[in-house]
Amino acid sequence: MHEPFFGGNEKEYVLDCINSTFVSSIGSYVSKFEEELANYCKCDEAIAVVNGTSALHAALHVVGVKANDEVLTQAFTFVATANAIKYCGANPIFIDVEIDTMGMSASSLKIFLEMNAEIREGKCINKNTGNKIAACIPMHTYGFPVNIEEICEICENWSIPVIEDAAEALGSKYKGKALGTYGDLGVLSFNGNKIITSGGGGAILTNNPKYAQEIKHITTTAKVPHLYEFHHDQLGFNYRMPNLNAALLCAQLEQLDQFLLNKRELAERYKDYFDKIGVKFKWEKNHCEANFWLMCIQLESLEERNSFIEASISAGIMARPSWQLMHTLPAFKDCIRDDQKNAKFLQERIVNIPSSYRSIN
Ligand SMILES: *Cc1c(COP(=O)(O)O)cnc(C)c1O
Repeated sequence: MHEPFFGGNEKEYVLDCINSTFVSSIGSYVSKFEEELANYCKCDEAIAVVNGTSALHAALHVVGVKANDEVLTQAFTFVATANAIKYCGANPIFIDVEIDTMGMSASSLKIFLEMNAEIREGKCINKNTGNKIAACIPMHTYGFPVNIEEICEICENWSIPVIEDAAEALGSKYKGKALGTYGDLGVLSFNGNKIITSGGGGAILTNNPKYAQEIKHITTTAKVPHLYEFHHDQLGFNYRMPNLNAALLCAQLEQLDQFLLNKRELAERYKDYFDKIGVKFKWEKNHCEANFWLMCIQLESLEERNSFIEASISAGIMARPSWQLMHTLPAFKDCIRDDQKNAKFLQERIVNIPSSYRSIN
């Protein structure tokens, strides 16, 4: 679906990193990457971690999500989003998505909160369970921006912090501003299949210096800096990105603009073709710029979806459906959810098609 492409300074930087012997969590490539990523996304702070899942976990941790809290998100997502919520001992609430953006529906979010939540002592509480609704994680599906401004506005009215799962959306923009920089925190992934990769990796974006400092601290085992003593002032995690991965990633980030142009060109060619044969090719909305990470078509039915995928795979061209909805998986079957009408509609119809950077046109 999406192959990595190493066409820049990858070998030079990785070799330099090996020669320096600083291959682990201390080294200049980590801070170089963090600075360049924050510049690229035009936000104050970027913190590099071992993967997108740990980035989500650390973000939930710093906004104060605790055991038995509830976290709003969508069932139409990759399992990592829901897993990270469970790692905090919290439970996801699945809000339906919109058909066009494939991300969290602001109107469904608003309706859910109006019907089920109330503010008690400045906190948003689920009236039915008595638990705190402690965060909201909208996800920018396949790099297409969700209606992030409206979601942030609703969450602000309900005193709910927003963590954008922008794991698939580096390079995408909403009204000219990078995704991942609208919420209190934004999360990116650099897994092997993402738009740029460090093998495995992730990052957290924020404009809040307090969150940034705390994330740096808890992702490095909460060790208090000292010349020789090992004092850890709270429960910490070993989540910092190794320098070796950051070296690869610095070279990848240099090529991101080129990747974005190349993918948009492919998307335009797909769109022309699918328009001609009357198949819906998913496109960005007004005011939005998608990174076209994974490109997708929307077919007419589950039967048509399955026969398309089978025909494509037997012709030697990879095609695959979207994820199974989170509440249909054993770990999340009892989670609170609304009707999931649009999520079901999309799950039965969306097919991802080959979306890699192409070095030959
Ligand atoms: C890739 C991805 C993540 C994080 O994945 P890691 O493999 O842990 O880096 C999180 N959420 C979504 C939606 C993703 O696609």
